[in-house]
Amino acid sequence: MTFIDLRSDTVTQPTLEMRKAMANSIVGDDVYEDDPTVNELEKMAADMVGKEAALFVPSGTMGNQIAIMTHTKFGDEIIVNAKSHIVKYEVGAAARLSGVSYSIVDNPDCRIHGNNVHEKVRGVDIHYPETGLLCLENALTDGTVVSLELMKEAYEAAKEHNIPVHTDGARIFNAAVSLGVDVKELTQYTDSVMFCLSKGLCSPVGSLLCGSKDFINKARKNRKILGGGMRQAGVLAACGLISLNTMAKRLKEDHDNAKYFAAELVKFPFIKLDMETVQINMVFFKIEKDGFDSSDFAEYLLNNNIKISANPSNEFRFVTNNDVKREQIDIVLNTMNKYFS
Ligand SMILES: *Cc1c(COP(=O)(O)O)cnc(C)c1O
Repeated sequence: MTFIDLRSDTVTQPTLEMRKAMANSIVGDDVYEDDPTVNELEKMAADMVGKEAALFVPSGTMGNQIAIMTHTKFGDEIIVNAKSHIVKYEVGAAARLSGVSYSIVDNPDCRIHGNNVHEKVRGVDIHYPETGLLCLENALTDGTVVSLELMKEAYEAAKEHNIPVHTDGARIFNAAVSLGVDVKELTQYTDSVMFCLSKGLCSPVGSLLCGSKDFINKARKNRKILGGGMRQAGVLAACGLISLNTMAKRLKEDHDNAKYFAAELVKFPFIKLDMETVQINMVFFKIEKDGFDSSDFAEYLLNNNIKISANPSNEFRFVTNNDVKREQIDIVLNTMNKYFS
């Protein structure tokens, strides 16, 4: 049974080319740093984001947590955005693994501005922890993209206080495509960046943490502490190379499809959707219809081989990807038409 899965881009299936590359990959033991395919992937990733070195990690969460562990010392405070993945969706890991506390920025625009950084950085006082890190994110989990100007502003503010900057760039390639810039334009405003291969880039597993040589050497040891040292990881890195060489170039198609999807969805009079928020491959909307029951809606779609995340507040996120193109979107729209008529 094949489903049209709108829940996320993490659900993307590895492509046929990836499956073949896995079978043919030349591998070694990556803990000894002699897996040629992992080494090739790490070099390519570092080059693409304009950093000296990179580290292949099992997940985006681990990449962020290694970055926090590597930049900070036990007891530091880190500046983070209230709606960020690090705050909302990483099980409070930074407190547990790195012993840091959060200084949370909670702006209505869900972005960290330069003045927030100046306000949050701790001065010298016996009562205060030290500020150890600024965490940025791009694209944001709400599917919008942070401008180059704002990244620059926050980065420069941190630098005035000699504070390192990490960017959770799980979807940094989507952000770059949306802004129409090379990804290096964004990553020049961060000391380290994590991005995911396993979302819109279709790899089955894996993320990359990139930064200076010195930073990555320390990060490699922290990856070992967390149990993330992998052995013949070249079978996975082989997919990662295809993600970077091929899949990163097709993200605009996902974004165009998301805009198409959104433009069709707003034709339902009871769907509330702000087209301005459709900036990458995600469409957020709300259904405001008397008697509407989101679990009944989700069940109907599932019976028609369409997977969505049901939400009691009737707010939905539909995500386009390599497996959800025009053809699949049209099937979903037809099915919704049937459900609502
Ligand atoms: C998905 C995601 C992560 C974490 O990636 P996992 O591989 O699921 O651990 C981190 N940050 C953001 C913004 C994400 O969307």
